[in-house]
Amino acid sequence: MRIVARGNANILIDYGEPSCLYRCCVRYSGSLRQNNLYTLENFKYINETIKPLLGDLLCPMELQVIPIEFLESIRGELGEIIDDSNVIVTKLRNLRPSEFSTVLYSDHFTRLYTTEGKSKLCLEFKPKWLYNSSDYCRNCSHNVLKGRNIKYCYRRVMNDPTCLRETFQNGVDKAFIVNLLAYFENGENVLRKLYHLQKQAHTQVLGEIRNNDDVTDDLLLEMTLKDVTCFLQWHVDGDISCQIVDVDLKPKEKWVHWLKTETQLRDLNSKIYAN
Ligand SMILES: [Zn+2]
Repeated sequence: MRIVARGNANILIDYGEPSCLYRCCVRYSGSLRQNNLYTLENFKYINETIKPLLGDLLCPMELQVIPIEFLESIRGELGEIIDDSNVIVTKLRNLRPSEFSTVLYSDHFTRLYTTEGKSKLCLEFKPKWLYNSSDYCRNCSHNVLKGRNIKYCYRRVMNDPTCLRETFQNGVDKAFIVNLLAYFENGENVLRKLYHLQKQAHTQVLGEIRNNDDVTDDLLLEMTLKDVTCFLQWHVDGDISCQIVDVDLKPKEKWVHWLKTETQLRDLNSKIYAN
């Protein structure tokens, strides 16, 4: 057993089953019980709200209850107060199996992996804000704000997939580029789907919010849909499949952070208006 990834809100555990990963909430650092309650609430949210929207695009997942003694070696990661005898985790399909061991490309939004024989590729990417109601590109402008020198964004890819050609230049199978561009040019692709769902959920303006109670379910959904991770697998025979993870319910209190970012972007002189 080992931790394969750590985020602010979750850790990902390889529990020795090659096809699965265990996702464990650590959002509330004080209490294991509180993290367990969030996992239950989040699982219900995903099943009732996200799954009907994403269908087969959603990564298969189920709840798993693990007695705390089976996680002894990572006990310190589970919360300062171990006030429960079990850890409730979400068992997910591993969308980047260990055979994808070589990283061909990596930036803040994208990682491209290949297998030893290079007959398969796995593209891990965060599309972020495909729909936004402002006249500037939220993704590209946010890159400027954060000092990230990234020449493309997935909003641009959605409108002009050829911009990826420049990004994946070195050591990437040309057939992959051809198949990937054809996939993103097809109206049924994952970016188009997320764009429409983000647009549909956009019913609330951040500037209207005064306190947590003002935050609508639509805004929480919109922000979840703007923070997902996609895993696209390509096989040398041209086959492409894609699934989505990181579809967690956002805490209402995050509206303060969202509004702060929006204000910073509005005041930024060097916003990017293209795409
Ligand atoms: Zn952009």
